[in-house]
Amino acid sequence: MIRTLSKTVKELGRRLTGKKRNQDPLELRIIPRDEHSISRSNVSESALKVLYRLNKAGYEAYLVGGGVRDTLLGLNPKDFDVATNATPEQVNHLFRNSRLIGRRFKLVHVVYGREVIEVATFRAPPTDEHSTKVAATGDQGMILRDNVYGNKDEDAMRRDFTVNALYYDISDFSVHSYAGGWEDLINRRLCLIGDPETRYREDPVRMLRAIRFAAKLGFSIEASTAEPIPVMAPLLGQIPSARLFEEILKLFLHGNALETLRLLREYGLFGQLFPATEQCLREDPHALAMAENTMRNTDERIQAGKSVTPYFFLAALMWPPLMRVQKEFEARGMHANPALQKAADRVMSQQLQIIAIPKRFSIPMREIWEMQSRLTRTQSKKAPELVTHPRFRASYDFILLREQSGEKLDGIGAFWTRLQEQNPDLANFTPRDSVFEADGEDGSGRPARKRRRPPRNRTRRPPQN
Ligand code: ATP
Ligand code: MG
Repeated sequence: MIRTLSKTVKELGRRLTGKKRNQDPLELRIIPRDEHSISRSNVSESALKVLYRLNKAGYEAYLVGGGVRDTLLGLNPKDFDVATNATPEQVNHLFRNSRLIGRRFKLVHVVYGREVIEVATFRAPPTDEHSTKVAATGDQGMILRDNVYGNKDEDAMRRDFTVNALYYDISDFSVHSYAGGWEDLINRRLCLIGDPETRYREDPVRMLRAIRFAAKLGFSIEASTAEPIPVMAPLLGQIPSARLFEEILKLFLHGNALETLRLLREYGLFGQLFPATEQCLREDPHALAMAENTMRNTDERIQAGKSVTPYFFLAALMWPPLMRVQKEFEARGMHANPALQKAADRVMSQQLQIIAIPKRFSIPMREIWEMQSRLTRTQSKKAPELVTHPRFRASYDFILLREQSGEKLDGIGAFWTRLQEQNPDLANFTPRDSVFEADGEDGSGRPARKRRRPPRNRTRRPPQN
């Protein structure tokens, strides 16, 4: 059901107007078809099908978000999002190949083979009188539910950055820009819609999104959008650990992880996500070199079109605090191996309180750590056997990374490189779990075979074309 607002749209606009930047969120500028670079050939066929069908059924339908922003920038969008005035139930009814998802934010996924088009109903900004709940203590202002429907103007106001509030209209192929989004895109700058502090309080993840887009797009962060971040960074403590894990993947797996790390640290956000690591990075140049090399290697892999898996970079980020705690246990008389186990328990459980690393990643992370000491015992007759260990490749790459970052390991990396060269059969036998080589097709680390389920309803209802 579309609910009308009791306050006028104009009043809402005034409430949201940024105090430092002279910005009117309701300022709509329409850029006609011949004045922008989006053509239907740049848009995925599935997204076009969704837009056309909605439009034909009498609903408004726009492409919005990264799909419009990235296409205008000449980049390949990661996905295409659609915004409409049809309710999720109406969208679901219109597309048999769709499913309703989400509780915090109800959406429809329209599925075409491997491609998913996300269709969102126009949302209204949060107001006290609506069903959006405002948390009671400590976390004032955070939006817990966001299912109040509105019109396109209202929808634009609740989006995060102006460049994410550009709408491509399928009915006349124009682009609708709000609050100076078009100019911000041209000037390559990120600017929050509305009052930045209010917007960060509503959803602190927007601070991470600012960094992600700045790093990915090479955009500057406009002063009033940037200023509150270092002060408001602790609000990330309110975000559920599972959501933060998803954000971490997006932050480090878009091909600009090195710049992302730099910006996250500059704005005091990295320490909120990885406090133990941040302390090591500040105090130990080897730790910093290792974190930077990890990000550089990850970026190189992504830029070369190779897959990456999160457990390696997470294992690398947490290695310096792990070593620190292990040494503390050893100083208390514990042997190296049990000290490592205890250190891994402690470092991991502290990290899990902030970021919910799924077991399918935390288990291989610990295996890489445990393999490190086994790989240093190069005299063992069992050395060639180790090459066939399922976690050998990742652990060997980890040794190389440690050496690359300045750790003196008596040339162990070269020893294992030679051993593999001398035993190509063994090396070839090594399961392909190389650090960056994902087991699954999506970098999830899950074996692809387990995830390859037939599409839902295949036998009963063939997906629509
Ligand atoms: P990409 O897909 O490249 O990560 P995107 O801008 O499309 O970038 P999505 O997470 O796919 O990001 O979200 C789609 C759109 O939804 C955004 O462009 C923005 O308009 C809106 N949006 C997403 N998350 C938020 C948020 N936390 N607060 C406000 N608006 C948001
Ligand atoms: Mg997107």
